[in-house]
Amino acid sequence: MTILRVAVDAPLDTLFDYLAPAAGPAPAPGTRVRVPFGRRRPVGLVMAHAPSSDLPPERLKPVQETLDEAPLFDPGLLQLLAWTARYYHEPPGSVAATALPAPLRQGRPLPEPPLRVSARGPAPDAMTRRAPKQAALLDLLSAGPRRADDPTLPAGWRATAARLAARGLVDIEPEPAAASWDMANPGPELNAAQADAVADVLASLGSFSARLLFGVTGSGKTEVYLAAAAECLRRGLQVLVLVPEIGLTPQLVQRFSARLGVPVATLHSGLGASARLAAWADARAGRAAVVIGTRSAAFVPLARPGLIIVDEEHDPSLRQHEGLRYSGRDVAVMRASISRIPVVLGSATPALESLRHAREGRYALARLPERPGAARHPAVRLVDLRRHPASEGLSGPLLRAMAQHLEKDGQVLLFLNRRGFAPALFCASCGWTADCRHCDARYTWHRRAARLRCHHCGHETALPPACPDCGADLRPAGEGTERLEEALVRRFPGVALARIDRDSTRRQGAVDRILDDVRDGRTRILVGTQMMAKGHDFPGVTLVGIINADQGLFGTDFRASERLAQTLVQVAGRAGRADRPGEVLVQTAYPEHPLLRRLLEGGYEAFAEATLEERRAAGWPPYSHLALLRAEADRPQRAMAFLAALRDAVRVPRTVTVLGPAPAPMEKRGGRWRAQLLLQSAARPALHRALDACSDAAPGLAESRGVRWFIEVDPQDLF
Ligand code: ADP
Ligand code: ZN
Ligand code: ZN
Repeated sequence: MTILRVAVDAPLDTLFDYLAPAAGPAPAPGTRVRVPFGRRRPVGLVMAHAPSSDLPPERLKPVQETLDEAPLFDPGLLQLLAWTARYYHEPPGSVAATALPAPLRQGRPLPEPPLRVSARGPAPDAMTRRAPKQAALLDLLSAGPRRADDPTLPAGWRATAARLAARGLVDIEPEPAAASWDMANPGPELNAAQADAVADVLASLGSFSARLLFGVTGSGKTEVYLAAAAECLRRGLQVLVLVPEIGLTPQLVQRFSARLGVPVATLHSGLGASARLAAWADARAGRAAVVIGTRSAAFVPLARPGLIIVDEEHDPSLRQHEGLRYSGRDVAVMRASISRIPVVLGSATPALESLRHAREGRYALARLPERPGAARHPAVRLVDLRRHPASEGLSGPLLRAMAQHLEKDGQVLLFLNRRGFAPALFCASCGWTADCRHCDARYTWHRRAARLRCHHCGHETALPPACPDCGADLRPAGEGTERLEEALVRRFPGVALARIDRDSTRRQGAVDRILDDVRDGRTRILVGTQMMAKGHDFPGVTLVGIINADQGLFGTDFRASERLAQTLVQVAGRAGRADRPGEVLVQTAYPEHPLLRRLLEGGYEAFAEATLEERRAAGWPPYSHLALLRAEADRPQRAMAFLAALRDAVRVPRTVTVLGPAPAPMEKRGGRWRAQLLLQSAARPALHRALDACSDAAPGLAESRGVRWFIEVDPQDLF
């Protein structure tokens, strides 16, 4: 008897056993099935076959329907899904749901391969007069076959193509998967460091290796990706590229498709469900040569995987913070290891985890120390805000530098990681502050919208005309990008200015428009949040201003300084590409702070070395492993009581330290009271055993009623 072990998207940390359908062969692992599940008939994924079940035979039900003729996932990918579920302590069904595009999750069929139309030859002369439409299409297709879903084909082409097909002049057939792909355009000649990195990657094709590509912004990492990818494609192997956010890096997709001239599939949340499904199916069938996607693309099936690239591997957006809480980068490394292919992690500011792996030899390290050509590193200067107080965020030295750079036709980029007009609104007379009624947080004042918005729970409310307590006038405290923008309009009248943050880019295509205007030089000053720090190339920018470095200097989180250093270096890296030297001004009230000094004197690497030593001494990651048990409830004290009971109920290995329970740093958020238990260990297996003990014990606790809880492995912040 064959038992099917099926992942079903239900909040239970287990697979479910079913019998094969009454008729037909048992669906293979990797196949979707529809199963009876209580009163529902959900779609499940067969993860494995088993010879027997723990359930008595009379309780086993046959699956209702097999949904795929062939498995969607190969055994290696199924192994990856199973590993992800175990490692992140999430139900296998929730991992399968993350890996499947929405239509497949809902039981829709895998789409048929798209059709391809190709011409057997150019239009004969006579046709041009007698059937000009047919002739035009034939000429278009003689340049190369087109996919039937190509939106650039002329209107009404289908009828014309059918007529041509009837005459035997064009072929219409399912799009085949190419055996290999030739590069369209050769890139620049690589420098020695780039060439070495490419050679190392290529030497390890067909076996697992992880490689950290550590190169400053503009040092040519993307050229390394492109050269390695081109060779993979020539050998008929597909390349998977993970990026933090595609919407913010349209340039990368363009560079891959323009240089390589091959079908590039993109996978990200900005796509409609059917476009996403089509891209997923192209990747699986081997029709897409390159797949560029955000974190969930780490699970996309590939017919012939050759190489995985993770760009900006330090970026927190590679991690998902809701539902399945996983790191796309770490899943990608595990995938490479299971599939025995190389993975390249690229960054100008690598995560300390990755640097430690490189230091200890688990990852190979490739450095790109220089910018190609004449491009020079920007000069960084600190502006002491105690000596040069800022008004509306702008100090005298920064304003003077801006005027100089604008005068010389340079562009200016100002970084402020806070959107809205002001992060707080208060009454100068009685001290009242506008606080979110659902969170332990202040409302941000959005002046243009005349609203108060909470950036933690999304709640918004009208701006009170005066202090609700005493009737005096309300004043803003601090500044966000909106206020900075207004101040700049007054100080630099007539200078074209743009703002890039989540508020200014809500409309479709807004990001592209703003970035194009900066790149073309139409925009002289760009104000923005970290949205602008992500891999954009702004050749005309000669001055970068960091409005306030101090938010990150005294963060309560042990990772705050790492994030600050990464952001500063990434933002500074936007200046002085191409052949114009750049200047970076960092405004701070703490110019003697050791973090800033280290960054300034030794760059990111010196900072990272020192910080790794501190982490080692303190026993923090990457020298120990962390997991958080987070709980929340809609009444105070419940989450705390639950975690306290859990702590008492479980026996954890001696090598695991349990800290807490403690109220979350922001205890009330979105109307719920939150608490957490921190588990720490130098040994991963012990940590995972402790987590297993917690998930086993939790449901049985009386205190778990009304409490929502979850585990977060390798949490990126402790908030
Ligand atoms: P990164 O990805 O590290 O930011 P890029 O690969 O985008 O760097 O390179 C920055 C710029 O330098 C790009 O315009 C790129 O085309 C150019 N470049 C990179 N490598 C070379 C090279 N070997 N010769 C000439 N130009 C190069
Ligand atoms: Zn008041
Ligand atoms: Zn709120």
